[in-house]
Amino acid sequence: MFGLKTDWSLEVLPRYFTLEDYEGGMARWCPGCGDHGVLAAVQRICRDAQLKPESTVSVSGIGCSSRFPHYMKTYGFHGLHGRALPVACGIKSRRPELTIWVATGDGDCCSIGAAHWVHAIRYNMDMVVMLFDNNVYGLTKNQTSPTSRPGSKTNTHPRGSFLPPLNPALTTLSISNVSFVAQTVDWNPVHVYATLKAAYEHKGLSFVRILQRCPQYTPKVFEEAQRDPSLMLLLEHEKGVQADPAGTKIYTNRTQHDPSDINAARQIASREDVIPIGLLFRDADRPRYEEFSSLGADVTIEEKVQALEKELDRFAI
Ligand code: SF4
Repeated sequence: MFGLKTDWSLEVLPRYFTLEDYEGGMARWCPGCGDHGVLAAVQRICRDAQLKPESTVSVSGIGCSSRFPHYMKTYGFHGLHGRALPVACGIKSRRPELTIWVATGDGDCCSIGAAHWVHAIRYNMDMVVMLFDNNVYGLTKNQTSPTSRPGSKTNTHPRGSFLPPLNPALTTLSISNVSFVAQTVDWNPVHVYATLKAAYEHKGLSFVRILQRCPQYTPKVFEEAQRDPSLMLLLEHEKGVQADPAGTKIYTNRTQHDPSDINAARQIASREDVIPIGLLFRDADRPRYEEFSSLGADVTIEEKVQALEKELDRFAI
């Protein structure tokens, strides 16, 4: 990092980060788990954007995908169940310059963390939120999650779950101040990379629902869509996700969708006959709460004490 000049002063050499600079511990997800591909995509984006590892934070709650921070050689916070988003918002509140990647699962985000999910979307702080949706609680070994399909046999519903599943993309599109919603599938690495890159480049909270394979507990849930690409609907638009055409040419079922149209986004997100992938909605002009919460972050302790004393003096008698 440092070069020694002949006049004995230190010169800081430019740093170039390789993939190894973002690779943490060996991922202990099951073989074939969709989480591996998403991790690789995030590490590639960090490398391609040359993000400083010391200015990057990975935050998670509890679940299989929430082991994410252990596998990133950046700062990380493996939080409590359902609490990834308040931790991430807390970090962004006072350190708005940091890049934040949030990893949360369908149980973590859409069940115990649902209230935090609603408010984090409304706060719209600049971060990428990756919802790893495998339709099951995997870490705790096969319980029904809010996105489990009716009839799914799990330890909590051995005869099959019976409630209709929650639709995370549609739910997010209904929250006020939403600014970015996209959907992708872990088994298409080209599309995952392009979607997460668009999410990273968006200023505001980017919510990306990733349909994620869990060969251990829900091996059949996305099998049909994997085998038959005509069950997918590729969203295309000049303002949308720009994936390498070589990686998306298998999708013959496509539609032009302008991501600034929230009503069209809701209609597409609610479709059950196909799995839409791409950018559903984006509005870069929505207010971001960190612009307010980080005010005064550079105030010195002395200035804070002075301001406090001035305020307290108002009540002197
Ligand atoms: Fe992945 Fe499922 Fe294994 Fe968890 S249980 S690591 S989600 S394959």
